[in-house]
Amino acid sequence: MADQAFVTLATNDGYARGAMVLGKSLRNHKTSKKLVALIGPQMSEPCQAVLKRIYDEVKVVDVLDSGDVAHLAMMKRPDLGVTFTKLHCWTLTHYSKCVFMDADTLVLSNIDELFEREELSAAPDPGWPDCFNSGVFVFRPSLETYGKLLQYCTEHGSFDGGDQGVLNGFFSNWATADISKHLPFIYNLSSIAIYTYLPAFKQFGGNAKVVHFLGKTKPWSYTYDTKSKQFKGSMNEASAHPTFLLNWWTLFSSAVVPMLQEQYGDQPFHSGCVEDESSTSLAEATEPQMSSEERKKKWEQGQADYMGMDSFDNIKRKLDTFLK
Ligand code: UDP
Ligand code: MN
Repeated sequence: MADQAFVTLATNDGYARGAMVLGKSLRNHKTSKKLVALIGPQMSEPCQAVLKRIYDEVKVVDVLDSGDVAHLAMMKRPDLGVTFTKLHCWTLTHYSKCVFMDADTLVLSNIDELFEREELSAAPDPGWPDCFNSGVFVFRPSLETYGKLLQYCTEHGSFDGGDQGVLNGFFSNWATADISKHLPFIYNLSSIAIYTYLPAFKQFGGNAKVVHFLGKTKPWSYTYDTKSKQFKGSMNEASAHPTFLLNWWTLFSSAVVPMLQEQYGDQPFHSGCVEDESSTSLAEATEPQMSSEERKKKWEQGQADYMGMDSFDNIKRKLDTFLK
């Protein structure tokens, strides 16, 4: 349907990579909806060009020089910069219904059925399930709602400093009013839930439709070794499940990096991919063997030995057996 769209936001080149992978994943799963990316004015030209190849519409949103109500709101609450930018999605009134998705989400199957839901539908937040997580939500663009949201934002601020606090404050009856506005968790599966309830992940993880890499470390913050399929960087933060992180990087390195390379031409750019055989030896070098009980406990606490025995290939093999 031409008047329905998936919408994301990327204010800088890092989040742009996320948006590229998200857009590709939606296309790969044959969405019939339009794809819209809201971007910040400081995004580099090559990134904008790649986004324009993947998305139907790329719209620059600059709260600072918009001169409208958002700008006024921004003057009162400069701390809520990106939040105001995200609220801009309500101004896309040439669409009747939209699904907003954070740039750090990845689609694993077709999710067009989300458009059967009403505003404001979202999945519970794993940290406080009476709040919805604002990484994936169904909404209806409307200048009236947009105005009310900005007003709410300036008057009440955000209880968590971000858009999720504002949106939960505004749509405050989400938890209790209408169960059809509660999206199943598989539409916004965050890695944190995997570690806090591993048996549930084992039981239901294979049904996941959207993965959300929430938290400080994003997929594009890692360095990926295309040869050994291993990651470098602070994997011990357990911010991302290795299987889903591998999904993200497989799509990024195969479908997005070639487009970036084309756009950057002779300009230097770092894809985040390396081919370094020395990283494999890390896994082999793990000396003291932990008992399997001890290891399981550590892993469930989020302290996996990603460089060693919990390396990507080992975990992937294991997870593939029950994700099948
Ligand atoms: N975002 C952005 N630039 C920023 C921070 C956030 O474009 O500097 C957008 C992006 O779409 C991102 C969303 O706002 O996915 C929410 O932020 P984030 O995903 O980092 O929050 P988390 O899900 O980790 O709480
Ligand atoms: Mn996010």
